[in-house]
Amino acid sequence: MFILFPMQMYGDHEFPGKLFIVEGIDGSGKSTQLSLLQQWLKREGYMVFFSEWNSSPLVKQTTSRGKRKQMLTPTTFSLLHATDLADRIERHIIPPLKAGAIVLADRYIYTAFARDTARGVSPHWVRELYRFAVKPTIAFYFRVPLDVSLKRILGARAGLKYYEAGMDLGLSDDVEESFELFQGMIRDRYEGMIDEFGLRVIDATRSIEEQQNEVRAIVERELGDVPKHPLPHFAFPEYLLNG
Ligand code: ADP
Repeated sequence: MFILFPMQMYGDHEFPGKLFIVEGIDGSGKSTQLSLLQQWLKREGYMVFFSEWNSSPLVKQTTSRGKRKQMLTPTTFSLLHATDLADRIERHIIPPLKAGAIVLADRYIYTAFARDTARGVSPHWVRELYRFAVKPTIAFYFRVPLDVSLKRILGARAGLKYYEAGMDLGLSDDVEESFELFQGMIRDRYEGMIDEFGLRVIDATRSIEEQQNEVRAIVERELGDVPKHPLPHFAFPEYLLNG
């Protein structure tokens, strides 16, 4: 059988820094784990930068307006997110990697692959679109059953938003039911990407501490040649240090 290895299309970067990213459905606990990892790495003396999905000032207003007015189609939604990541990769992720720092990203290309294809975008098209992305050192996938994540997310939040619940897919008129169906589709896609991209699976049903210990052990093994001292400030643009 002919097997494709699409990950080889992405930049296997040769920068001295390391890029760790987290993925998983809403409520899998990935942000909690990344935040704890960041605190630990800083305490250990590493220079750490954090970048979050959908946070580039370049497209923020357009995305917000598109969401508010429910104007986004699967394609325009996908292109906006790709622009968001392209901007953050060029301005926030590659400069620290070049300088030998650690970059942590909450969601990465796999979020686009899972969500956009659930919305009907071509899997091949979206993978091609993100060819500009550098390959993460480790991509963690926090695997959790739907009922566990739903309980966590609904317990922590006041309500669900239109696009987050996948209401644009017309799966159900009930926002909670739509959310559940949409998250299920996304979870199936994550499961399908484990082998395709070598995602590192973390059993996210366990306690926060147990997971964090495992994540730290995996990250620690990758840090052999990463300098512990803060890197010289001149290596970074001002917006990276103050942002
Ligand atoms: P995500 O970023 O995947 O959406 P969060 O890290 O924001 O998830 O966590 C969602 C909610 O679940 C938060 O209220 C968080 O405190 C809680 N949570 C995270 N990890 C666990 C865990 N292992 N066990 C129980 N609750 C958790």
